[in-house]
Amino acid sequence: MAARMSAHPLTLYNSMTRCLERFTPLDPAKGVRVYSCGPTVYNYAHLGNLRAYVFTDTLSRVLRWKGYALTHVINITDVGHLTSDADAGDDKMEAAARAQSKSIWDVAAHYTAAFKQNIADLNISEPSRWAVATDHIPQMIAFAEKIAPQHCYELDSGLYFDSSTVPDYGRLAGNQDDEREGRIDPVAGKRHPQDFAIWRKSPPGEQRQMEWDSPWGKGAPGWHLECSVMSLQYLGAPFDIHTGGIDHREIHHPNEIAQNQAFCGCGDSGARFWMHNNFLVDRQGKMSKSKGGFTTLQSLIDAGVHPLAYRLMCLQAHYRSELEFTAENLSAALTRLKRLVMAISVLKAQREISQQSRASFVYSERLDKALSDDLNTPKALSVLDELVSDKALIAYDRMDLVREFDAVLGLNLLGLTREALRLAPKSATLTAEDVESRLTERREARAAKDFARSDAIRDELTAAGVEVMDGDPLGWDWKPAL
Ligand code: AMP
Ligand code: ZN
Repeated sequence: MAARMSAHPLTLYNSMTRCLERFTPLDPAKGVRVYSCGPTVYNYAHLGNLRAYVFTDTLSRVLRWKGYALTHVINITDVGHLTSDADAGDDKMEAAARAQSKSIWDVAAHYTAAFKQNIADLNISEPSRWAVATDHIPQMIAFAEKIAPQHCYELDSGLYFDSSTVPDYGRLAGNQDDEREGRIDPVAGKRHPQDFAIWRKSPPGEQRQMEWDSPWGKGAPGWHLECSVMSLQYLGAPFDIHTGGIDHREIHHPNEIAQNQAFCGCGDSGARFWMHNNFLVDRQGKMSKSKGGFTTLQSLIDAGVHPLAYRLMCLQAHYRSELEFTAENLSAALTRLKRLVMAISVLKAQREISQQSRASFVYSERLDKALSDDLNTPKALSVLDELVSDKALIAYDRMDLVREFDAVLGLNLLGLTREALRLAPKSATLTAEDVESRLTERREARAAKDFARSDAIRDELTAAGVEVMDGDPLGWDWKPAL
C-alpha cells in the first residue's frame, strides 16, 4: 500500500489519561510498535473476542494507510490464565484439557488453528508475530528473578507481586481501591488484595500437565507476566500502543504496568497509549466464553451468514461503544454489505479513463478525517455509502476511492461477488442452483397466472429454509432464512 501524507493528525483515545491525544510514534526510526493481548486458547473465540481483533486490525490498517511501518505482536495465551482474572480458580487450559480428556498441547493447537481461521475469515491482517506464551518460559523466569528482590514475596502457593512497591498502582483502572479492598480474596497470606501471582507453584504431590522448574519450585507463570515479557522482548520498552478488551483495563493491564515499572525501575507504564475496545453484548449481558452458549463465527457461517457481514457489523459501531449482538443487527449488516457489493459490481463493469476530479480528493480527505478522529469507522462507512452512489464522479474514480476506503475497512469490497456472499447454510437441503431453478419455475407459473403452483413453490422453498424476496431492490430474489 502506498504511503500517504495525510492532512489530518491521528488522535486516539488513551485509557491511561481518559483523553483523546495526538498520536506520533515514540521512535520514528522504529515505526509504530503495537502489542495486542491475544486469545486464551482453551476454547473457540466467541464473537465478542473477535470484536477485539477487528478493532486492532482497524488500528493497524489506519496506521499503515497513514504511511507508518508497523510491528504488531499478538500473543497466544496457552498457560497461566485462571478461571478468574484475579488469582482465583483453576488454569483455564488445564481445566479444558481435563474436561475434554486431551493433552493441553492438543487443546492449544486445536483452538489456535481455529482462531487463525477466524482471523482469515474476517480478513484481519496477520500480525508481524504471533507470540506463544509457552515458548517464552525462560525469559519469564529471568524477568521475575530481576524484579523479585524488590517487588515480590513468596508464599506456599507462589511468588506474588507486592502492588504497594510501585507508584500509582491501578491508575489505568481508575484506582478503584475501595472496591478492590472489598473483594473476597482467595489466596491466604497476600499482603494486599490486589497483589497478584507472578509464578504459581504446583501444589505438593500434584503433577500438572504444564509445569517448569524455577527458583521458586516447579510451577507455571502468572498470566500477566507473559504479556510484559513478550512485549518487552519484541517491541522494547516503552513501545507505542497496547490494546485489549475493556475488561483488561481493570486487572490484567494494571498488573502488566506494575511489572513493567518494576522492571525498568521507573514510573513508565511500558506503552505510550493504552487502548481498549468495548464489549459485544447480547441480551444476557457481556458475551463470554465461560458463560457457555456463546456464538462463534463458525456458527454464523454455518447459518449461511458471510463472516464479513460480522466485520461490517463491528465497524458500524465505534470501538469504544458497547455493541449489541442481535439477529436483526447482523441481518442489517449483511444487507448493507450486499448493497455495497452490488453497487460496486456495477462500477466494475464501466470502462472509463480517470478524471481525478476535485471531488475525488474531497472523499479521500473525508475518509482521513473520520479515521483520524479516534478511528471513527461508522462515519467512514457513511461517507463510503455516499461515494458509491455519487453520480458526480465517474465510475473509474469511484472504484479508485472504494479501493482506498477498503484498505482501511478490510471488507474485501472489490473481491466479493454476489455468488461469494451467498453462503449455503450447513443445514441446506437445496443448492443455490436448485433454488434458482425453482424460482424460474415460479416466475413461469406466475406469468401463466398459475398462482396455486407459484404459492406451492414458495411454500416448498420456505420449508427448505429459503426466504423468497419478491421485488427486492437489490435484485437478490432469495436468501437463507436466519
Ligand atoms: P480472552 O481469550 O478471554 O483472553 O480474550 C481475548 C480478547 O477478547 C481480550 O482482549 C478480551 O478483552 C476481549 N473480550 C472478551 N470478551 C469480550 C466481549 N464480550 N466483547 C469484546 N471483547 C471481548
Ligand atoms: Zn495481555
